[in-house]
Amino acid sequence: MTKKILVLPGDGIGPEIVAEAVKVLEALRQRHGLDVELEHGLVGGAAIDATGGPLPAETLEQAKAADAVLLGAVGGPKWESLDIGIRPEKGLLGLRAGLDLFANLRPAILYPQLAGASSLKAEIVAGLDIMIVRELTGGIYFGQPRGIRTLDNGERQGFNTLVYAEHEIERIVRVACDIARKRGGRVCSVDKANVLECTELWREVATRVVSQDYVDIQLSHMYVDNAAMQLVKWPKQFDVMVTSNMFGDILSDAAAMLTGSIGMLPSASLNAEGRGMYEPIHGSAPDIAGQGVANPLATILSVAMMLRYSLDEPALAERIEQAVNQVLDQGLRTPDILSEGMTQVNCAAMGDAVVAFV
Ligand code: NAD
Repeated sequence: MTKKILVLPGDGIGPEIVAEAVKVLEALRQRHGLDVELEHGLVGGAAIDATGGPLPAETLEQAKAADAVLLGAVGGPKWESLDIGIRPEKGLLGLRAGLDLFANLRPAILYPQLAGASSLKAEIVAGLDIMIVRELTGGIYFGQPRGIRTLDNGERQGFNTLVYAEHEIERIVRVACDIARKRGGRVCSVDKANVLECTELWREVATRVVSQDYVDIQLSHMYVDNAAMQLVKWPKQFDVMVTSNMFGDILSDAAAMLTGSIGMLPSASLNAEGRGMYEPIHGSAPDIAGQGVANPLATILSVAMMLRYSLDEPALAERIEQAVNQVLDQGLRTPDILSEGMTQVNCAAMGDAVVAFV
């Protein structure tokens, strides 16, 4: 059956990098029978300019009807002075909430060819391949009550609430275990169970889920402060990490930075039906937008994740990942990952090089 993909280029470098990812999808369609139909839509600043809001109702409807969404990036200085409720980023949040994308998958992969780009020693990070699974729709970012109140003594007090119901913990742990089964079979659940009752429950539920349904998975637990330290000290010890919304936000950025190349990292956000939104982890890079120099590989690798997690085409996903490896082996580099002796190429040439290998 033909699968529907909604393409949302967004702002800044979004349209440039998404164009290269679409080239790759087209090549897979023509050469390897990938049965997909692409539809384009508006989100972020582009949607504000065209319709007055960052997430038009039509875009959300298109996204709900699609098997997967491919997103570039949103935001930029042009829209920064707008009220926070109608800024481009609200478009993303609206898509996450509207599609109930509770599982955020952030791989931190360091291609051996790029080991020199990391701020850590090459031997510590070369070949790094971690998958961080972050809960995305619950926890302290959404818990009620929240706000800033004035106390009896006139002093102001800020407050937020960390809440997780058992089903929220259970479903994200299951996602992590299912992914671990296709990788190294190890899951490290990150919490702060020594201080926060909410994450004491997290640990208890994670242990129960694994002992009931994933006896083949090797589960370990780690406090978040130790996890941050271990990520920097010995990152290759991890296979899959699963954690709450805020801890995942912080740890996945730290893990991404281990690789030193923000233009290389894809991400996926999935709902219970396995439908998902796929996007590079970086933003719209307004400083280089329109110059044709952005690195499209994170977006192209997001397509690989889409093929693996929403379109059930793991062989084609691997084909893209292999093609990226071959392009790097050839020494082709966009400016952000350029090093001595390599060949500098622009965004479109990088896309063409991947297309040549898929
Ligand atoms: P950014 O990720 O856009 O850029 C950070 C730095 O990395 C910049 O120097 C940029 O040139 C570089 N960079 C990013 N992607 C690159 C690529 N593919 N190739 C080469 N270089 C690349 O982060 P920022 O500057 O903090 O934010 C810029 C805008 O993007 C803001 O409006 C922000 O709100 C938005 N943003 C959007 C998302 C998203 O759409 N998911 C995520 C983060 C930031």
